[in-house]
Amino acid sequence: MDINSLQRENIKNLRPYSTARDEYKGQASVYLDANENSFGSPLPADYNRYPDPLQLDLKDAISKIKGVPIENTFLGNGSDEAIDLLYRAFCEPAKDNVIILPPTYGMYEVSANINNVEVRIINLLPNYQLDLDGIAEAIDANTKLIFICSPNNPTGNSIIRTDIETILTNFKGLVVIDEAYINFAKQRSFIKELTEYPNLVILQTFSKAWGLAALRLGMAFAGRPTIDILNKVKPPYNINQATQDLALAALQNINQVNEWIKLTVEERDKLSTDLLTIPVVKKVYPSDANFILAEVTDATGIYDFLVNQGIIVRDRSKVTLCEGCLRISIGTPAENQTLLIALKNYQA
Ligand SMILES: *Cc1c(COP(=O)(O)O)cnc(C)c1O
Repeated sequence: MDINSLQRENIKNLRPYSTARDEYKGQASVYLDANENSFGSPLPADYNRYPDPLQLDLKDAISKIKGVPIENTFLGNGSDEAIDLLYRAFCEPAKDNVIILPPTYGMYEVSANINNVEVRIINLLPNYQLDLDGIAEAIDANTKLIFICSPNNPTGNSIIRTDIETILTNFKGLVVIDEAYINFAKQRSFIKELTEYPNLVILQTFSKAWGLAALRLGMAFAGRPTIDILNKVKPPYNINQATQDLALAALQNINQVNEWIKLTVEERDKLSTDLLTIPVVKKVYPSDANFILAEVTDATGIYDFLVNQGIIVRDRSKVTLCEGCLRISIGTPAENQTLLIALKNYQA
C-alpha cells in the first residue's frame, strides 16, 4: 500500500518550513541564527532557545517504554493535534470523506467539520461493537480515514480485535485506532501490529493514565511514510520545551503511574458493583477504561442533583445509543464514596 499516494495533492508537493535548527544541527558555542534572546529568559529554567522540532530526547525515552522506534513516533500538542493533522495531510476538503463510529469521541467529527471533510456516520451496534457490513458499504474511493476508538469513549468497552483486523486488512486508507484508554484495558495495544499494517495509525496520550492533561502531549505511532508526512505538515515547534522537559521527568516516575492504573482499575470494578446496588442505577456497562457508562432512571435530574452537591459527571443522555446514561470518571476512593452517598440520597 502506497501511503504517499493518499496525501492531499498540495501536501504531496509541499516544501516544509526549514527551521534554523533544521539547517544547523551540530553543537556550537555561539548561536546567532534564530533571533532568540541570547541573554537568557526571565525564569529559573532556560527557555530562551527554540525547542527541538522533532523532540528526539523525549521520543527516545518514550521508545524505551513503548518499544516503538523513534522514526515511527509522532508527538502532538495533545492527540487532538494529531487528529487535525491527519485531516490536513490526507483529506481533500469538499472531496474526501472519513468514517466515524458513534457513540464515540467528539473531536473526530469536529476536526472533520473544521477541515470541511465529509463525515460518514456508521453507528456502533447495540452491543457497542463495529457494524462491519455498514462500514464496508460506506467506504468509497475517496474514503481516507476510519477512526476506531478502543477502549471507546463514552461506552468504555474495547472493540473486538478481529473486527479491527478485518478493517486493517481490507481498507485502503488509514485506520486510526485511538488508544487513549489502553492503560486501563485488558486488551493489549495494537503497537505490536505496526509492522504488519502500513495503514495503521495508533493514537495514545499523556492526558489520561499519565496524569498530564494540562501539558498537552499526544502520541501517534505509525509506519515511516505516515510519520514523515505528519512531520512535514506540523507546526515546526509544536511541542514546547517545558512540556518536553516535564514529560521526560514524568517518564522517570512510571512506577507511580502504574500504581495509579492498578488503583483506578480496582476502584472502577468496585464502583461498578456498588453503583448497581443503588435503585436509580438501571445498568452499568462493563468498562475497559477509567470511566463508567451508567444508565440511570432520570439522567438530567440526577446530573443536576449531583451538580448541586458539587459533583460533576458527564451527561451523555442525549447521545445516540447512550440514552439515559451518565459517564462517570473514576476518582479517588474518597471521591467515589462521595458520589455513591449522593446517589443514594437522590429522590426523584
Ligand atoms: C481524552 C481523549 C483523548 C485525549 O486527547 P488529548 O488531546 O491527548 O488530551 C483522545 N482520544 C480520546 C478518545 C479521548 O477520550
